[in-house]
Amino acid sequence: MENCPFCKIVERRLPADIVYENDRLLVFKDINPAAPVHLLIVPKQHIPTLSDCHEGHAAILGEMMAVIPRIADQQRIGVVGSSPQTRSGGYRVIINAGPDGRQEVYHLHIHLIGGPRPWKDNK
Ligand code: AMP
Ligand code: ZN
Repeated sequence: MENCPFCKIVERRLPADIVYENDRLLVFKDINPAAPVHLLIVPKQHIPTLSDCHEGHAAILGEMMAVIPRIADQQRIGVVGSSPQTRSGGYRVIINAGPDGRQEVYHLHIHLIGGPRPWKDNK
């Protein structure tokens, strides 16, 4: 897509701080981070919103989710420990869709937001 910023990042026509890439997806830092770690997981294929997805997108949607634990560990925000007393780390995974979902960039993406509190949103 000619004027899509995330397509431009995929095509290296716009700079980004890329932390992971494979043939189907790209992960880069959000330019306006809401927390110590704020990454965007983006399919290379231009899909405007989650509402444009159907069962045919199960593989790419699954891969976007499945890569998150590895990226989170790489960024040192993964959940460590198995009991409530010892557990630490962690993150949020968010997809905004459409105007009521406050989506700003119409190229599907997952926000991976984490790191030590407090965060900007502080919810
Ligand atoms: P959303 O509301 O889910 O569409 O969020 C879009 C996100 O993309 C926002 O958090 C922006 O800060 C981020 N963003 C917009 N343009 C860029 C860019 N060129 N590089 C990195 N992040 C961007
Ligand atoms: Zn795009």
